[in-house]
Amino acid sequence: PWLQGVCAIVTGAASGLGRAISRRFVAEGACVVAFDRSESGLAELKNELGAAAETVVGDVTSTADNRAAVITALTTFGSLDVFVGNAGIWDFQRSLEETDANELATAFDELFAVNVKGYLLGARAAVGALRASGGSMIFTLSNASFYPAGGGSLYTASKHAGLGLVRQLAYELAPAVRVNAVAPGGMATGLSGPAAMGLRDESISASFPIDDIMRRHGALRRAATPEDYVGAYVLLASKQSLTATGSVIDLSSVGTPSRPEKTSPDNREG
Ligand code: NAD
Repeated sequence: PWLQGVCAIVTGAASGLGRAISRRFVAEGACVVAFDRSESGLAELKNELGAAAETVVGDVTSTADNRAAVITALTTFGSLDVFVGNAGIWDFQRSLEETDANELATAFDELFAVNVKGYLLGARAAVGALRASGGSMIFTLSNASFYPAGGGSLYTASKHAGLGLVRQLAYELAPAVRVNAVAPGGMATGLSGPAAMGLRDESISASFPIDDIMRRHGALRRAATPEDYVGAYVLLASKQSLTATGSVIDLSSVGTPSRPEKTSPDNREG
């Protein structure tokens, strides 16, 4: 096992990629604090993973909830070695002109609060414990951290901001704490959107032909699953990455599948 004795916090652990990361980390010998706003999703995961997992129901945009996750790691498992910032929401590629101006303003606050402030507050809460353990942070970025058309302007800007955060934190926290990232491409998950856009109960898997798009237009012509991306998190969390900081493992297979035509929105990925 690659992660024997490692204790990690995973945000957004109740679904999709975060759930796959949590499962794989435990399979590799780690203990996981699974942090999510979905109480039912966390209960399922806890049921599956048993004593190797502890859950924290909370909101990543809350300072107190992020602190609670760190305290849970320290009290339950005795240390914190890895903070995985992963919880995120998507804008379902809503274009600027499709979005009402008032809705744009409120959706900005909501989406940036999760995708950017959530990462910052998680890092702030975890940094002391990671300094003490000589640990690291890993953030989930996206094809949208590098390329257009993986979202609308809100999502793409938030994921570019995530890249800036990784670079700045890697610089600030060296040599004590390493900060790295993984950029997955499209996958069918529960990925939802801002309530302000009426997208709180939508999901990319239910309302977007993401698998079909990846199969037809992806450079590698395959529909990816969350499990396809988790190996990079294992690598970055392990002792095999002691020289890595500020690095991003881009698994989005040259970004967006087939540069989209403006007239053909179906050719875009999430
Ligand atoms: P998902 O919805 O299946 O999982 C995200 C989890 O985050 C959910 O369990 C949700 O409850 C939780 N969450 C959302 N807001 C929260 C909040 N405020 N507080 C606490 N928990 C919250 O989606 P996913 O696809 O697994 O997304 C994981 C990450 O992967 C995100 O950062 C997303 O931007 C990124 N990503 C996804 C895709 C894709 O196509 N699905 C592509 C590239 C990057």
